[in-house]
Formats: sequence, C-alpha cells, structure tokens
Amino acid sequence: MTSTGAFDVVDLIRAKRDGGRLDDARIGWVLDAYTRGAVAEEQMAALAMAVLIRGMDRAEIAAWTAAMVASGRRADLSGMGRPTVDKHSTGGVGDMITLPLTPAVAACGAAVPQLSGRGLGHTGGTLDKLESIPGWRASLTRAEYDAQLREVGAVICAAGDDLAPADRRLYALRDVTGTVESTPLIASSIMSKKIAEGTAALVLDVKVGSGAFMKTLDDATELARTMVDLGTDAGVRTVALLTGMDTPLGRAAGNALEVAQALEVLAGGGPPDVVELTVTLGREMLAAAGLAGLGVTGAARAGGRDPADALRDGSAMDSWRAMIRAQGGDPDAPLPRARHTDTVTADADGVLTRLDALAVGVAAWRLGAGRARKEDPVQAGAGVIWHARPGDRVRAGQALLTLHTDTPERFAAAREALAGVVAIGDRAPETAPLVLGRLD
Ligand code: URA
Repeated sequence: MTSTGAFDVVDLIRAKRDGGRLDDARIGWVLDAYTRGAVAEEQMAALAMAVLIRGMDRAEIAAWTAAMVASGRRADLSGMGRPTVDKHSTGGVGDMITLPLTPAVAACGAAVPQLSGRGLGHTGGTLDKLESIPGWRASLTRAEYDAQLREVGAVICAAGDDLAPADRRLYALRDVTGTVESTPLIASSIMSKKIAEGTAALVLDVKVGSGAFMKTLDDATELARTMVDLGTDAGVRTVALLTGMDTPLGRAAGNALEVAQALEVLAGGGPPDVVELTVTLGREMLAAAGLAGLGVTGAARAGGRDPADALRDGSAMDSWRAMIRAQGGDPDAPLPRARHTDTVTADADGVLTRLDALAVGVAAWRLGAGRARKEDPVQAGAGVIWHARPGDRVRAGQALLTLHTDTPERFAAAREALAGVVAIGDRAPETAPLVLGRLD
C-alpha cells in the first residue's frame, strides 16, 4: 500500500521524517485513509514516530485534530436546556475527582457530558472505577445519554464508536509503538474527543509530577497551552489548571477504594486535597459555563451556586445517586472488597517526607486494579490505601500502606514496585500548592 488516492503516504512520511510540514489537505487525507483502512498500520506507525521526533506546528496540530473530529460525528448538545461543561484530567494516581465533581457541578445547574475511557497503565480509568458499583453500566444508547444529560445533568459513560474513530485506532497503535509521548499527538487525541463530544466549555486538569504523563512544569505548560488553543480555535471555551502529581491524591488508589473515597467527599467529608481540587475545578467549570464568575478569592460570585455548598448540603450526593441509578447502579449496595490484604510498615520514627505517586500507582496496578492490555479484566477491590501523607509524623512499625488484592501472589510484585516509595526524615518537607498554574 503506497499510493492510495490523492497523495502518496510514503511521501508524507518522508516529508515529516526530514523535518518538513504537512498541509491541511495531506493531514486530512492521511487520517481519513487510515480510518478507512487504506493506509497500513506500519505506515501510520512510521508517520507517528516521525511526528514524535519532528513535532508539528500549531496549524498542523489544528488540522490533525480537525481531521480526527471529522472521522466521526460531532455531537450537538445545544438543546440540553442547561449549559454544558466537561472536565478532562491527563491522569494521575488516586485521581477520582471526576466522581464527586460531575454530580457537584450538575447540582449547581450545568450539564456535564463525561465520555470517559478505561484505564491503561498505572493511572486507572473512570469507567473501571464506576464499574465496581453493582449493576452500573458504562454503555448508553444515544437516546439514554441525551435523556440523562437533560434530566439529571450528569452522565459518565463510555464513548461510542462514532466518537473520533481515527483517534481510537491511532491511540491503540501509538500504545504499542512507543509513540504516546508526543505533545502534538497527546493534545490532538484528547481534544478531538472533547470537541466531538459537543461540550460548550471544558476545564483541563493537566497533571505534573512523578505519577503524571508530564514530569516537568515546562512540559505540562506546553501541553496545556496546546490543548487550550485547540479548544478555543474549535469554539470550545477552554481553561487549564496545572496541578501537582508527585504525591498521589487523597488516600486510596484502586477502583472500589476510590469510589468509597468519592462517597466520603459527596457526604461532605473526605481527604482535604480531594475536596480542594473538586471545589477548585468545579468553580472553574461553572465560570466557563457562564453560571458563575470567579471572585478574587476564587469563591464563586453571588448568584451562582457553589460546588462547596453542593457537597455540604447533600445536593451533590442527590445528583450522584440519580446518575448512578439512571445507569442501572445501586448507590446503596456495598462495594466489593478484596479478599486479601498486606501491610507495609514504617522502618523508623520521623516525619514522612515523600510518598511517590508513580510507585503507588504501579503497585495498585500490579495488585490488579489496572490492566496491561486493553482486553485484561480489572479487580474491583484491588489497590493501595496509604495511612500517612508527606508532613505526617510516623513511628517505626506503624502501618504506612495497606495493599488489597484477590490474588495474593501479586503482593511480591507490588512490594517490589514500592521499594523507595516513602522517605522518612527529621523535618516536614516544604509543601507545594496543589494548583501550580492556570491558562486560558
Ligand atoms: N489520553 C488520550 O486520550 N490520548 C493520549 O494521547 C494520551 C492520553
């Protein structure tokens, strides 16, 4: 397969390999031909590698994103009766913010259309988490999705096959060809799905640190800038927050363990960092949706409802229960628990100075919370709970982490991932703020 119509794919690969730029017509053609099966996987892999090494300029990234949107259907959500706003996180350990955030923002008057994916690798997927709730189903028909968005204002479900199919195919290819770590390819992949989903506004949570895709603030800022520009150019009001991911969020990583933590937040409690991020992102979403302005203190301005109130007064919990029920789930059913646990203890007295997000994420994944290949099952109860965070005083022999799994033969591999996960010192570490920057 070389010449398959308007252009010759080998010419495009050579042009990008040698540092040239691809015009809109060539980009539109190659993504369309690839989606139709007229460009071979090995040719697309070569082009993705050339893009990873040579990069793309802003116009090329915009054309690449538009072509991926055009490979499927762009939804129109303008008839939902309330402003639509979504949030996307680039992925972190213990990052279950979508779970309390979606109903909290719906309780404040917006409609939140969350088309989510399953986890691959150590960061976990929102659908895997929700599937630990007995009866809950991720797949909705178009009519069910529209009705739930209109009536409940909150939907978290699987993206249909018609949402940016070029990205679905290309992402699977990138995953097995070492071509995920490219800012233009990540930005166009994420934004094509959000633009096609039809949301009017979008808040991006771009994670920075050991447990994130982006390890440095510079790389995260570049990704955030690229995505904000792509959204804005496509008519989606887009804002990005840069947030820290050297330490995992909250107190748990794992599917049912994170749902349990979300329920604490929805009941007005929960870990302070999870509550802070939920409220901060919620205020940004309401402002982007035109339902509130952000005052100088970051609090929502008079007139609009505030997500902190929705968590406190039970209205976010009411939205959660309606959202879970609408998708067949039983919000009162006990969550699955792993059959076996093991404990990691502190080996000295002192202050915890580090809890490494990547090590915790990999351990949770090895315990069965995540998958190595798309088709692998996940264990609902598997994961890690940590009992101390940086800054907490600990004593030798005290439990620091509890490991959960149904398959105890996994404990050894998880413990191996946890070598060096914590550091214990004499003095509390300097604490970085959770929100490191904001771009619009
Ligand atoms: N998430 C996506 O949807 N795409 C990427 O390329 C990376 C993360």
